[in-house]
Amino acid sequence: MSLKTIFLWLLTASFLLSCSQNEVEEKKVKVGKTMLCEKPGGSKKENDSLSLSAKPLEKASAEKDTAVKPKKDMGGLVDIQTIEPSILVDLKYASTDNFMKRRLYFDIDKLYLQKDVAERLAKVQHYLQELRPDLTLLVYDGVRPLSVQWAMWRALDTIPVKERVKFVSNPASGSIHNYGAAIDLTIAKKDGTPLDMGAGYDDIRKIAYPSWESHFLQTGELTKQQVENRKLLRKVMQSQGFSNIKTEWWHFNACSRVQAKARYKVLE
Ligand SMILES: [Zn+2]
Repeated sequence: MSLKTIFLWLLTASFLLSCSQNEVEEKKVKVGKTMLCEKPGGSKKENDSLSLSAKPLEKASAEKDTAVKPKKDMGGLVDIQTIEPSILVDLKYASTDNFMKRRLYFDIDKLYLQKDVAERLAKVQHYLQELRPDLTLLVYDGVRPLSVQWAMWRALDTIPVKERVKFVSNPASGSIHNYGAAIDLTIAKKDGTPLDMGAGYDDIRKIAYPSWESHFLQTGELTKQQVENRKLLRKVMQSQGFSNIKTEWWHFNACSRVQAKARYKVLE
């Protein structure tokens, strides 16, 4: 073998070795990139030090994050529209159109009530339509999970408790809504336009209090028609034994808190 041949042979061997090393480097980069994609928050240093054995764990956690949440177990509660499809529903807490301006219901997208309560509400709808075939019930809230009640309560923790109870019932004592035995609703035209009640849903001002209606009628802040609309809502609801409260024209209880506790389970 000539010196020239030995030199050429060494050159080829060195070239082949270098190519093979580059391939190894390239593979390392690919592994690094894959890891970077699977863990967008991780720093480069973290990714460099990751070994292949960490990958299945990362994958498992990513799968867990994107897993579909199981639907909430609604117990014996029923969707009001399966009992009476003509009742309109605008579930305010499943949207941002509420006094907190944020969505609170993520696993409830229908209006649920205890079955016997829903059946009574269906009779209210029939009675209303006998009196006024042009009108319908429009329901804003039914069962409210206790966990949501706590979320509302905590979200307003800058407001002193004495004031806060005007917005949300104290979850420590609970609300009849938690049992699916209280309803927030109004009356609307068939196209869904609510009647003018002189104060909006969840309005905490005294003008929303049924107990102050005669006062605001006298001052002219409520019109006769607005009070008549509220009276029509009370009349039809009371025909099925629903009782109103003094501070919210839209809230009706199907029974007392004691009866609710004895008959039904709280939706956690
Ligand atoms: Zn209510």
